[in-house]
Amino acid sequence: MTETENPEPLNTPERPCDFCISSTIEWIIPAAPFEVAPANMSPGDWVACGSCGELIHAGKWGSLAPRATKLWPRGESDFAEAAQAVRRLGAALSEHMTGEPRRVER
Ligand SMILES: [Zn+2]
Repeated sequence: MTETENPEPLNTPERPCDFCISSTIEWIIPAAPFEVAPANMSPGDWVACGSCGELIHAGKWGSLAPRATKLWPRGESDFAEAAQAVRRLGAALSEHMTGEPRRVER
Protein backbone atom coordinates (compact mmCIF):
# COMPACT_ATOMS: atom_id res chain seq x y z
CA MET A 1 0.00 0.00 0.00
CA THR A 2 1.41 3.36 -0.95
CA GLU A 3 1.08 6.52 1.05
CA THR A 4 -1.40 8.90 -0.44
CA GLU A 5 -1.53 12.55 0.30
CA ASN A 6 -3.66 13.09 3.35
CA PRO A 7 -5.82 16.16 3.62
CA GLU A 8 -4.42 18.59 6.10
CA PRO A 9 -6.12 18.49 9.47
CA LEU A 10 -8.75 21.10 10.08
CA ASN A 11 -8.16 24.21 12.07
CA THR A 12 -4.40 24.18 12.25
CA PRO A 13 -2.31 27.31 11.93
CA GLU A 14 -0.73 25.76 8.85
CA ARG A 15 -4.00 25.65 6.99
CA PRO A 16 -5.29 29.09 6.06
CA CYS A 17 -8.74 29.98 4.81
CA ASP A 18 -9.45 28.11 1.57
CA PHE A 19 -10.65 31.31 -0.08
CA CYS A 20 -8.39 34.11 1.08
CA ILE A 21 -5.12 34.33 2.94
CA SER A 22 -6.51 34.66 6.44
CA SER A 23 -5.14 32.11 8.89
CA THR A 24 -7.98 32.51 11.38
CA ILE A 25 -10.33 29.63 10.68
CA GLU A 26 -13.82 30.08 12.01
CA TRP A 27 -15.97 27.98 9.68
CA ILE A 28 -15.99 24.45 8.38
CA ILE A 29 -17.82 23.84 5.14
CA PRO A 30 -18.84 20.20 4.87
CA ALA A 31 -18.34 19.02 1.33
CA ALA A 32 -17.88 15.89 -0.69
CA PRO A 33 -14.59 15.58 -2.53
CA PHE A 34 -14.75 16.97 -6.05
CA GLU A 35 -12.41 17.82 -8.88
CA VAL A 36 -11.16 21.37 -8.34
CA ALA A 37 -9.00 21.26 -11.43
CA PRO A 38 -8.14 18.42 -13.77
CA ALA A 39 -6.49 15.68 -11.67
CA ASN A 40 -6.81 17.82 -8.56
CA MET A 41 -9.39 16.64 -6.08
CA SER A 42 -10.52 18.65 -3.11
CA PRO A 43 -9.97 16.70 0.12
CA GLY A 44 -13.51 16.99 1.45
CA ASP A 45 -14.43 19.56 4.03
CA TRP A 46 -13.31 23.12 3.43
CA VAL A 47 -12.32 25.74 5.96
CA ALA A 48 -12.99 29.45 5.92
CA CYS A 49 -12.14 32.50 7.98
CA GLY A 50 -14.88 34.49 9.71
CA SER A 51 -15.67 36.82 6.83
CA CYS A 52 -15.50 34.27 4.02
CA GLY A 53 -17.53 31.83 6.12
CA GLU A 54 -20.22 34.44 6.76
CA LEU A 55 -20.58 35.03 3.02
CA ILE A 56 -20.78 31.31 2.28
CA HIS A 57 -23.25 30.74 5.10
CA ALA A 58 -25.39 33.54 3.63
CA GLY A 59 -25.02 32.06 0.15
CA LYS A 60 -23.32 35.22 -1.10
CA TRP A 61 -20.93 33.45 -3.43
CA GLY A 62 -20.78 36.50 -5.67
CA SER A 63 -19.32 38.57 -2.85
CA LEU A 64 -16.75 35.97 -2.00
CA ALA A 65 -14.54 36.41 -5.05
CA PRO A 66 -14.00 40.17 -4.65
CA ARG A 67 -13.34 39.71 -0.96
CA ALA A 68 -10.94 36.84 -1.30
CA THR A 69 -8.93 38.21 -4.18
CA LYS A 70 -8.66 41.65 -2.58
CA LEU A 71 -6.46 40.09 0.07
CA TRP A 72 -4.25 38.19 -2.34
CA PRO A 73 -0.83 39.62 -3.04
CA ARG A 74 -0.82 41.50 -6.29
CA GLY A 75 1.84 40.24 -8.59
CA GLU A 76 2.19 37.68 -11.26
CA SER A 77 -1.32 36.37 -11.01
CA ASP A 78 -3.94 38.03 -13.11
CA PHE A 79 -6.47 39.64 -10.79
CA ALA A 80 -9.51 39.11 -13.01
CA GLU A 81 -8.46 35.55 -13.66
CA ALA A 82 -8.09 34.93 -9.94
CA ALA A 83 -11.56 36.31 -9.27
CA GLN A 84 -12.92 34.04 -11.98
CA ALA A 85 -11.20 31.07 -10.39
CA VAL A 86 -12.77 31.81 -7.00
CA ARG A 87 -16.18 32.18 -8.64
CA ARG A 88 -15.82 28.84 -10.39
CA LEU A 89 -14.60 27.28 -7.17
CA GLY A 90 -17.55 28.70 -5.25
CA ALA A 91 -20.01 27.40 -7.80
CA ALA A 92 -18.48 23.93 -7.70
CA LEU A 93 -18.24 23.90 -3.93
CA SER A 94 -21.84 25.01 -3.46
CA GLU A 95 -22.92 22.00 -5.52
CA HIS A 96 -20.87 19.61 -3.41
CA MET A 97 -21.68 20.89 0.02
CA THR A 98 -23.06 18.12 2.19
CA GLY A 99 -24.55 20.38 4.86
CA GLU A 100 -24.70 23.86 6.27
CA PRO A 101 -21.41 25.60 7.04
CA ARG A 102 -20.78 25.43 10.76
CA ARG A 103 -18.66 27.42 13.15
CA VAL A 104 -15.47 25.88 14.44
CA GLU A 105 -15.88 24.87 18.03
CA ARG A 106 -13.15 26.17 20.24
ZN1 LIG B 1 -11.17 33.92 4.11
